[in-house]
Formats: sequence, structure tokens, C-alpha cells
Amino acid sequence: VSRRAELIAIGSELLGWSRHDTNGSYLARRLGERGIPVCFRTIVGDDPADLRAAFAVALGRAEVIIATGGLGPTVDDLTREAVAGLLDLPLDDDAALLRGIEERFRRHGLTMPPSNRRQAQVPRGAEVLPNSVGTAPGLVLRQGARLVVLLPGVPGEMERMVEEGVLPRLEAADEVLATRVLKIAGLTESETDRRLAEVHAGAGDVEWTILASPGQIEIHLRERVRAGAGPLGIDRLDRAIEAILGEHLFGRDDETIESTIGRLARAAGATAAVAESVTGGGVAARLTSTPGASRWFRGGAVAYSDDAKVALAGVDPGILARDGPVSEPVAAGMALGIRARLGATWGLAATGYAGPEGGGPDRPPGTVVLGLAGPGVTTTRALRLPGPRAIVQQRAVMAALDLLRRGLLGRSA
Ligand code: ATP
Ligand code: MG
Repeated sequence: VSRRAELIAIGSELLGWSRHDTNGSYLARRLGERGIPVCFRTIVGDDPADLRAAFAVALGRAEVIIATGGLGPTVDDLTREAVAGLLDLPLDDDAALLRGIEERFRRHGLTMPPSNRRQAQVPRGAEVLPNSVGTAPGLVLRQGARLVVLLPGVPGEMERMVEEGVLPRLEAADEVLATRVLKIAGLTESETDRRLAEVHAGAGDVEWTILASPGQIEIHLRERVRAGAGPLGIDRLDRAIEAILGEHLFGRDDETIESTIGRLARAAGATAAVAESVTGGGVAARLTSTPGASRWFRGGAVAYSDDAKVALAGVDPGILARDGPVSEPVAAGMALGIRARLGATWGLAATGYAGPEGGGPDRPPGTVVLGLAGPGVTTTRALRLPGPRAIVQQRAVMAALDLLRRGLLGRSA
């Protein structure tokens, strides 16, 4: 029989807008990798009746129930009592557990406050999961075929217990969930969809989701496979997608466009420098976020005003006056200038109007011009990017990074 899980996040703070149930995201991922699907995620406040109701519902619809939070010593920590009450189990004092908690306080030069005694109470028949990094122990209850696991809310303590105590008890399912993310730049979501329509139609048992963020499209593939076997369906789709999208496909899983650029630059022994106006340093920030960037990223300038474009990126003032700051000659001048000044293999530039103001009728907000100067090539790209200011800037950063990536691909090919 396949086991389905329900996650219960306990804590009134999680019902608001300021704290997120990150424990649930972590648990969903780790269970998914074991082939145990999460079918419900419940968030419930620190209220005894609501807690009982949440557990009662979960027991009626899931085989594995994992709750986090509310095991602490304070009055709003009610999980232990709620579950014991619902399952009609008396709470027994666990002498060994109590000694352990007292000992923990002593080691830190403190005496245990009386309120912590509650953490040594165990619903009859429950197994105790020791907490090596905090005081609240975890509890495992078996109800027939059902498994109820209660874990502390503090993410570090919870994760440690999951890895050491919970996952080993959920003997690996014979099926696991394999996933792969394919990352695409330079195409819109609808264009990606159109080009991949036929491959998508033949996806078979592989689950397919397409997600868009400014300047980047992701295809998420998921496939149930026998434990130990390879994800053959995903591999087949991956090859088909790569054959159709070619250079638009820039990475997989944890790869980012900047990590791809770093890999290509190092392979080619190339360096890069940037001159940024509309992106305000966003391109440099992305490039320097990759470990080892110092080996290939020389630096750059935020050349925002016309004067800065002249002073920092060596743009010819005559060209600026003639063509205006958002123009192909200026973008090319910025790229060539920063390349020369920093002695880089590649110079990358971005200029534009992020909005809400534009540069006249033929240059509305969202008009962005990129420049790339490299060995024997200088190219520019004039773009109209949709969205409000922050989105235009994000799209411009992605488009600029993608232009550099394509330059590096051309050179290393
Ligand atoms: P403690 O012994 O620390 O009191 P506890 O089991 O009572 O542990 P809580 O008091 O509910 O846990 O939560 C402790 C901390 O962990 C809080 O900062 C809380 O915001 C955080 N936390 C609780 N649940 C979650 C969750 N689902 N996701 C992320 N953080 C959480
Ligand atoms: Mg608490």
C-alpha cells in the first residue's frame, strides 16, 4: 500500500504573514525523496481544541503524520497534551528523559525551571527521539498502520531529528520521486511552450510544470522510479528538450546563469567586466555571487549619469550628445570602454529606461540596450522589456547575463 503523509505546522505565528512554515518545505522534500507523497499540509495555531481537530482530521486521511512545534516548556506549547488527549493516552513521567534535561541545564551552569518538567512527559507507548541540540524530545506514536511523529519547531532541532530518527523509521519505499529542473533564457513562456508542445504531449508518466520568473523559464520534471533505478523518462525528455531549445537551455537543477558563465569563462581562460546604467550594479552582483568569481570577473562600473558614462566607461561625449544615453552606439561604447579600461576579454554593458519615465515617444519605459564587446566582436541588442521598474531591471540583468553567456559559448565553441 502506498503511504501518504500529512504535515501539521503548529504555532499561531505561522498563521500570519510574517513567519513561514519552512519546516513543511523541508519535510516535503525529504519525504518526496523517499517516495512518500505529502497530500495535505495543515497550519494550526496554539489552541487545544484546534490542535485536537487538526490531528483528528489528519488521522482520518493520512498514514504518516508529522507535526512540528508546540513541544516546548511554555504555556502555549500544547502538542503533547492535545495528542495524548485525542488518542486517550495517559502522560507518563519519563525519569531518564527528565535526568537528561536536568543534566543539559547543569552543563550550561543553570538549574532547570519547573516548567521544563513537562518536556519529560511521554504519552504511554510513545517512542522518544532524543534531541541532541535542544531540550524538547521528539515523540513517535504508532496507531495501527498509522505513524504519528511529533517534532520540535526549531528548524535546526527538527532537521537533526528527521535525519537521525524519523527517516530511518520510514523504511525506504520501493519507489522514489526523481526530479529535474531545466533552465531556459531568451524565450518567453508561451514561445517555450509552443516549441515544446510535441515533447510535452509525449511526456507520459513524467509530471511537467513550467514556471516563469523575469527573464528565465524553468521546466520542472518529476517521475516516480523504482528505488535504485535511473529516471529514464526524465532523461528521455531532457534530451528531446535540449535538441529543440539548443543554446536557450542554459542549465539544470542547481545551476544558475551566472554559474554557467563562470564555468564557460574558466574553460576559455576568459575574463569579463561590466558597465551598468539601468541595472545599477545588478549584473555585477549576480556575477560575484558565484564562488571563484575572482578568477574571471575583473570588476565594473555603475555608469548611471551621462558624465559617469564618459568618466568611468570612456564613452565618447560626442556620441552621447548625438544618440542619447539609451542607444546602440552608447551601449557599444560602454562595453568597449570598460573592456579596455579593465583589460578584460569581454566587456558587457546595459543602458535603458527602467520606468516609470522613458526617453520620449520612440524610447518608452522598458527600452533597454545591451552591448557586448569581445575578441573581434562588438554587438548590441535593443529590447523592449515589459513590467514595472523592478521587473524591467530584473529582466535587463537576465538579458545582459544571457548575452555574455552566448558570447562565451561562441568563443569556446
Ligand atoms: P521550543 O522548545 O523551542 O519551545 P517548540 O517545539 O515549542 O520548541 P515552537 O515554540 O513552536 O517549538 O517554535 C520554536 C521556534 O521555531 C520559533 O521561533 C518558531 O517560529 C520556529 N518554528 C516553529 N514551527 C516552525 C515551522 N513550521 N517552520 C519554521 N519555523 C518554525
Ligand atoms: Mg515553544
